[in-house]
Amino acid sequence: MNKTDKIYVAGHTGLVGSAIMRSLRAQGYSNFMLHTIEELDLTRQAAVEEMFKQERPDYVILAAAKVGGIHANDTYPADFIYINLQLESNIIHSAYRNGVKKLCFLGSSCIYPKFAPQPMKEDYLLEGKLEPTNEPYAIAKIAGIKMCQAFNRQYGTKFISVMPTNLYGPHDNFDLQSSHVMPALIRKFVDARTAAAASATVWGSGSPKREFLFVDDLADAIVFLMNHYDDGEIINIGTGQDVTILELAAMIKEEVGFIGTIEFDSSKPDGTPRKLLDVSKINALGWSAKTPLREGVQKTIQWYLENK
Ligand code: GDP
Repeated sequence: MNKTDKIYVAGHTGLVGSAIMRSLRAQGYSNFMLHTIEELDLTRQAAVEEMFKQERPDYVILAAAKVGGIHANDTYPADFIYINLQLESNIIHSAYRNGVKKLCFLGSSCIYPKFAPQPMKEDYLLEGKLEPTNEPYAIAKIAGIKMCQAFNRQYGTKFISVMPTNLYGPHDNFDLQSSHVMPALIRKFVDARTAAAASATVWGSGSPKREFLFVDDLADAIVFLMNHYDDGEIINIGTGQDVTILELAAMIKEEVGFIGTIEFDSSKPDGTPRKLLDVSKINALGWSAKTPLREGVQKTIQWYLENK
């Protein structure tokens, strides 16, 4: 990408999109096409087509999505499949029709089978049944990948698909019902400390393992891949290391400075037992994650305290 090329970052105000904006700006890119959800409803095909026709972006980073944690996915399955299918299909099709040079579609590690061998390699896609709590979301993301590959095959487009692991960082959603585990636990421990509570509650058993990538590292990886990766085959982005939810909770508790105990709510689901990406493919291209988990947790706590 040349520094003056026009880059459309769909979802630029979210956790991922805002990090991509920080990374692009830091690297000297300055020509952006940006629309808030109020200005442009990405689920409306005609509106998306019109916007592409008028603004003609050179590159597209598709970071807009309906996202949420285990409870939100389990409670609003229709929204997760409908909104994601609509917006990705509108953007991918319009990108093709308007001659976009390259598009980056963001998938998720939940596209892989629930009981996939760990760490999960890119070619485990569609080799087994998905985790039921987020199957509608995963199916929408898999459709996005297949759509990019189909357009590449039929029309010669250059649409790449990246699979980030669980992400966290500034601008995350800290709502306890709809968030992912990292922001939820930060908020719970901060609230418990403020209230001088005796305990804070962690959902499930604490035994599932998750890999966490600081979102600014993801953004760097995406800009790197936009410049160095042209293959339609999916590529994982992660740290290659995971922790149990209990280990994560203990780290957040310590960093927040909460002195009470950790309790478990076993009425809440554990979800998939382990989700660790094999990152040898992106590492071999010359990219690896930089931010250690503790440092990322500290930065995210700080952002939350300043912005809550
Ligand atoms: P997942 O990676 O798709 O399962 O999504 P989450 O980030 O929402 O959940 C990851 C794991 O953390 C699951 O085992 C949850 O049960 C567990 N967890 C523990 N406490 C919480 C919490 O307060 N909120 C959320 N969202 N998950 C929690």
